[in-house]
Amino acid sequence: MAKLWALALHGGAGPIFGRNYAPEEAHLRALLKDGAARLAAGEAALDVVEAMVTALEASGLYVAGKGASPNTAGQWELDAAIMDGRTRRAGAVGALQGFESPVQAARAVMERTPNVLLVAGGAATLAASANLARVTDPRTYYGAVDEDTMQEKSPGMGTVGAVALDQYGDLAAATSTGGVLSKTPGRIGDTPIIGAGTWADERCAVSCTGLGEYFIRANAAADVSARIRYGNQTFEKAVRGALDDVKRLGGNGGMIAVSASGELVWGFNSSGLKRALADSRGRFEVGTFL
Ligand code: ASP
Repeated sequence: MAKLWALALHGGAGPIFGRNYAPEEAHLRALLKDGAARLAAGEAALDVVEAMVTALEASGLYVAGKGASPNTAGQWELDAAIMDGRTRRAGAVGALQGFESPVQAARAVMERTPNVLLVAGGAATLAASANLARVTDPRTYYGAVDEDTMQEKSPGMGTVGAVALDQYGDLAAATSTGGVLSKTPGRIGDTPIIGAGTWADERCAVSCTGLGEYFIRANAAADVSARIRYGNQTFEKAVRGALDDVKRLGGNGGMIAVSASGELVWGFNSSGLKRALADSRGRFEVGTFL
């Protein structure tokens, strides 16, 4: 029997009703196929989630990496995080400017420094020392920002993320975002805050999307694990409970999660969640709304 693995991707919560997400769904489907093949071939969860989020960032289809929108000062400040469940090593960057792949910068923080989170200029210096691909002309790279695009992106919440369980039983999570629309310069959301928007341990791996301030206040990603650990909740109930807590505070969004036994759960209390899920038992599905 094939060894157990599982993978979930997301392209953000809060899609707009009536809009056609066929390009995003086609992209997620192709990426899911690639990620599933990697896990089936024995690649480590940590490497797979980094590769998946790097591809999501580079696609320009989501509000992360190439698709990110600028802050009110017209600058692109990006956030990302990655976490390894077995060792609980983690790396994250906040308000990073000038690099194509924030998730690769987050991995560099994890691999090359004793730190977990580097922001702004410090994150950029580290990314440069890791020889990561630069964005030399932000306006060309991220594309023209017109009112329509902004409107479109506004409720789109196009953060991207990936969670995986590999054949060795290890879990990993990664998330990347341009943040919320028209954010204040220096604003950092839940994505690079370990425990809030991104979490992986020996029980589960979680990647969130939504109104970041509420996910920080709910410590939403790590709350899924806490509900299992201290509350003996089922995985499904733990995800639901963490999202309910975000809602109770007044926020909304969604998350993808995978457990150590390969259970995949997604949920949202926004208009939808662009997501894709596959596992070694033959599950393979992509969706945006219900
Ligand atoms: N959670 C992200 C942030 O607050 C935004 C999103 O998921 O769309 O930065």
